[in-house]
Amino acid sequence: MFDFLSNKFSSIFTTLTGQNKLTEKNIEETLTQIKESLLEADVPHKLIEEFMQSVSADVVGQKLLGSLKPGEQLIRIVHERLLAFLGGKNQSPFAFQLPSVIMVIGLQGSGKTTSVAKMAYNVQKQAEQRGKTRRILLASVDFYRPAAIDQLEQLSKQIGASFYRSSAVDPVKAAADIYSYYQKEGFELLFLDTAGRLHVDDTLLQELKDIDARLKPRYKMLVLDAMTGQESLNVAQAFDRSVGFNHALLSKMDSDTRGGAAFAFRYALQKPIVYVGVGEKIADLELFHPERMAGRILGMGDMLTLAEKAAATIKEAEQQKMHKALTQGKLTLQDFADQLTMMGKMGSLTQLAKYMPGMGGLNVTPDMLQKGEVELKGFKAIIGSMTPKERTSPRLLDASRKQRIAQGAGVQVADINALLSRFEQTQQFVKMFKGSGRFPGLF
Ligand code: GDP
Repeated sequence: MFDFLSNKFSSIFTTLTGQNKLTEKNIEETLTQIKESLLEADVPHKLIEEFMQSVSADVVGQKLLGSLKPGEQLIRIVHERLLAFLGGKNQSPFAFQLPSVIMVIGLQGSGKTTSVAKMAYNVQKQAEQRGKTRRILLASVDFYRPAAIDQLEQLSKQIGASFYRSSAVDPVKAAADIYSYYQKEGFELLFLDTAGRLHVDDTLLQELKDIDARLKPRYKMLVLDAMTGQESLNVAQAFDRSVGFNHALLSKMDSDTRGGAAFAFRYALQKPIVYVGVGEKIADLELFHPERMAGRILGMGDMLTLAEKAAATIKEAEQQKMHKALTQGKLTLQDFADQLTMMGKMGSLTQLAKYMPGMGGLNVTPDMLQKGEVELKGFKAIIGSMTPKERTSPRLLDASRKQRIAQGAGVQVADINALLSRFEQTQQFVKMFKGSGRFPGLF
């Protein structure tokens, strides 16, 4: 997700970090580039203007010119601004209050039904991790799309949640019937799937308003298809004006989608995005983290999301080592090699590429992936051929040591240099953001 934005920002900042001093001219050029990248990412014009103004004001205010590490400062300013736009920092993680009714709304095909199951599954898993169980009921009042209710029934079986089918045929009556069943049986959460249309229309909105008035759900969760770009903003605004909603789930963020949708949504509606859908499977749901997202846009990668994914796969000890490396702002080649091994255990490069620093911006094609796989194997072989000392102090790697390693790993010296520059980039980001002390939640 945000691949497009990320790609652009990465290249802008790579150029900047390579420079010793920022001049008025290259600040100007950088800001223009940022603006262009936002435009290309389908972010509405008005938002870009505001964003650029706030960044410019900060740049001027902080007297960047001639300061010690201006490139880093500029990155921080942009990071902070992005963060503010995406929802601010240090929010406590989202969790549904109990008991609650969650009415799920959105256009047809946005991913409502799938997301209902994903959220229920997510809540259940979270509870299980704390040794608890949740009494969750799934139900649907989508009488328009053939088989929509059957689809939900199937999904509920798949995740082991309860399901209730009302015999009423009127959606509002069915909703009321479902609600009394939910209360009578003492469920803790009711996820109610509603009908969608291909376009927002008055009949749909009126029906949702009636259901809302009847059930008064604590949560009205709008499912928004991130692939629809700027149009998604119009959809969100239409739902907001009529039914209203208080939370959003951005689905299909795993697709080759542009960053504009989330960015624009947060800006225009100022409502929390609490979840993002990142695939078709039930487990493909993540909490939305503004801090991580801002980091991701800037091409810093998303180490924490990666760590979370790892939790299911990787042994505790390995994780603690990585956590230590990150929290101390130190990352050795050994950690880097461990990371590559973890990746191997966790899945394909495509899934993981977006989480890795420096790789987040790549618009990955199958060809690049294959090259990437080969490169990663090479990296592992190279690190494998180093002495433990070389792994912790890559500075030791002079020409003759590189020659030796290249022979040992069966690669060229240029491959070693490529690894070292990729590694240095990662290390710089880790150090910089640790050192700033301003992003406690990030590392
Ligand atoms: P509804 O009409 O809004 O209930 O939409 P569905 O839940 O039936 O989803 C429509 C399609 O989008 C299905 O093929 C889903 O598998 C797919 N889908 C839903 N969420 C995601 C997501 O996060 N990522 C991807 N790639 N596909 C999704």
